[in-house]
Amino acid sequence: MFVDEYTIRRWTQSAWSHLGLELPCDLHCVCDHLGLNIESIESCVQVPGYYVPGVSVIGLNNYITQSRLRFTLAHEIGHHIIGQATGHKYTVDVPRWMERLCDRFATELLMPADLVREQASDLGHPDRHDKTGTLAARFDVSISAMRYRLRELGLTSKTKTSAIIHY
Ligand SMILES: [Zn+2]
Repeated sequence: MFVDEYTIRRWTQSAWSHLGLELPCDLHCVCDHLGLNIESIESCVQVPGYYVPGVSVIGLNNYITQSRLRFTLAHEIGHHIIGQATGHKYTVDVPRWMERLCDRFATELLMPADLVREQASDLGHPDRHDKTGTLAARFDVSISAMRYRLRELGLTSKTKTSAIIHY
């Protein structure tokens, strides 16, 4: 089947409602539901994670930071879902369109738009103060991932970066 951003949003929304997910998104619960097994990657391997189709295994490099680990895990879950839906035959070279869709999947799963808007408004972000760090902690994602998400949702303060630009 054809998979686009809209399809991905529908999937991730149904994962949140069907699995009764709460903040921060419990990715292990999603993996259990999908029958995905997680294994640790030895430190010498220079990749944050991988997905092995057929045996439904996700490898995770435990030497990367927790927030990056979560984005990587969500991205690899995306490979499983999108790969099955599109019938994609994985080879060593994964096409860019697939990587982009998996990043989109990870973003939508970890930071659903409605929840980000709700939490941001709850905190008075960005009208009163920049709350990117607090939001990143609530969603258990990196600050840069949350900053990117807030920007694409139009939730960025107009006066925002003055403090950062000065150095
Ligand atoms: Zn990938």
